Amino acid sequence: MNKNFSDILNLLSKLTLRRIANSMKVFLGYYLSRLTGKPLVWGLPFSLTIEPTTSCNLRCPECPSGLRSFTRPTGMLTPDLLKNVVDQVARDSMYIIFYFQGEPYLHKNFTEMVAIASSRNLYTATSTNAHYLDPENARKTVKSGLDRLIISIDGTTQEVYEQYRIGGLLSQSSRRHGEYC
Ligand code: SF4
Repeated sequence: MNKNFSDILNLLSKLTLRRIANSMKVFLGYYLSRLTGKPLVWGLPFSLTIEPTTSCNLRCPECPSGLRSFTRPTGMLTPDLLKNVVDQVARDSMYIIFYFQGEPYLHKNFTEMVAIASSRNLYTATSTNAHYLDPENARKTVKSGLDRLIISIDGTTQEVYEQYRIGGLLSQSSRRHGEYC
């Protein structure tokens, strides 16, 4: 089966009547807000972006994590906080993106947190520079139930790759398998 098609089917398998109703509330609130000019916040987010950590091993020049230029503290999300959020949203939301700025696999409990979300039938996705995606982490990732793994590689030679992925080793990223961005 086509990979994108099976990914869509997987995402659709997370739908419940309650999640569909919540998404409709969100869209309705949005369009009514536009029509009336008054803010209407209905429903809970159907998709969340949660940053496991703000820290990173690389120094990409367009990224606040790579530049060490955050105005917020650098740190690690606690699994308890993640569980608390998941408990609040799981019945209505359907999708958690486990990255923003930072390398998720630097968090020692990363795959445990994915497993918490997966156990509530939430679709989970992450993006990594793959420097920590060794066989053990690969096994833990599969067991966690992660639905979508994006591996970020910019260049097919070390010389080109390191122009953006400063401090990175292409040989360490490219021997992994996944989706490239
Ligand atoms: S690998 Fe990702 S998180 Fe790390 S510096 Fe580069 S863009 Fe930012």
